[in-house]
Amino acid sequence: MFDYIIVGAGFAGSVIAERIANVLNEKVLIIEKRNHIGGNCYDERIENILVHKYGPHLFHTNYKEVWDYLSNFTEWDLYHHKVLAFIDGRNVPIPFNFNTLYKVFPKELANKIEKKLLEKYIYNSKVPILELKKEKDKDLKFLADYIYEKIFLNYTAKQWGVKPEEIDSAVTARVPVFIGRDDRYFNDTYQAVPKDGYTKIFQKMLDHPNIKLMLNTDFNEVVQIDHQTKKIYFFNQELRGKLIFTGMIDELFDYKFGELPYRSVDMRFEIIEKEYYQKAATINYPNNYDFTRITEFKHIHPIKTNKTVILKEYPQVYVKDENTPYYPVFTQENQERYNEYLEYSQGFEDIVLVGRLAEYKYYDMDDIVKRALEVFEEKIR
Ligand code: UDP
Repeated sequence: MFDYIIVGAGFAGSVIAERIANVLNEKVLIIEKRNHIGGNCYDERIENILVHKYGPHLFHTNYKEVWDYLSNFTEWDLYHHKVLAFIDGRNVPIPFNFNTLYKVFPKELANKIEKKLLEKYIYNSKVPILELKKEKDKDLKFLADYIYEKIFLNYTAKQWGVKPEEIDSAVTARVPVFIGRDDRYFNDTYQAVPKDGYTKIFQKMLDHPNIKLMLNTDFNEVVQIDHQTKKIYFFNQELRGKLIFTGMIDELFDYKFGELPYRSVDMRFEIIEKEYYQKAATINYPNNYDFTRITEFKHIHPIKTNKTVILKEYPQVYVKDENTPYYPVFTQENQERYNEYLEYSQGFEDIVLVGRLAEYKYYDMDDIVKRALEVFEEKIR
């Protein structure tokens, strides 16, 4: 019998499994619905090019402890992600910064706006678009409206199905206006991609005699929860240890407070018969087409071949049993529903919830590794 059962083999589940196996020297079983480990970080080669099957994953962090921890499982290729946005017929750097300013406006106007921005904001600082929108100054207001309309409004409508102000402000603040000339998508201290890809990290993490893995298995097939006694059963035998759950919290509790909404994405890959398709790793299309962005993986994991692989992302509503939940949808109403689930879960002493889906939070990879390490220390160790 196992001491712990973990549902989900993404970062949340795999980090905790690795800690339980190595630090506690106890036995753990991971149950995974898909036919592979790694969750949405899973990558594999297409035409010999390393491709992120669930969308571009660029590792970036300011947490040295997370960088050090993951470095136990991989070597890195230093990598700084750059994104362009196709606006008014040309590609310009994103996040919007002074370089973008001079690309989209005539020099004199750009100059005037740059001066005003520098009078108001510190050089190299970040301003969320919804903050900039509050500007009273006529030139800054003009700039804010321009960025809002050209970059955020239609992209957010495609990605989330709502206007930027109808979603938690932290979402659009992920891509702030940058008061400076740094063209990189992230500014963190550590930025890299794993030399041999993410899947290899997971293989190394889980390669331990204390860890058993059950792929192609829905947790409902093997785990039962008794809502009266609050006990957990594994193949009808009472579980003595804990259940660490990283899947959808509403599914875990049989949707008793209703379904929590998620956004999904239809990931469409194409093999192109030329060496390169586009100039940057990712190009965003806020206002054109039904996809939000095109990523070309060769820029992320360079390799010399005659072909290239691109990914177009088509956001869509998540529908149970039909597609994959990628993002929790942050509105007041959904948060309240989540809180009902959270409160209910607190009645179960032996259930530990961790991860994007279980905590209904927009965790990045580094956030989730940090969170999993903390949960291990606080709730398991
Ligand atoms: N966003 C936007 N236009 C862009 C890039 C981002 O409106 O060109 C907004 C959009 O709402 C998006 C959010 O900022 O969902 C966060 O973007 P990010 O690139 O961090 O999303 P992720 O890579 O996590 O899908």
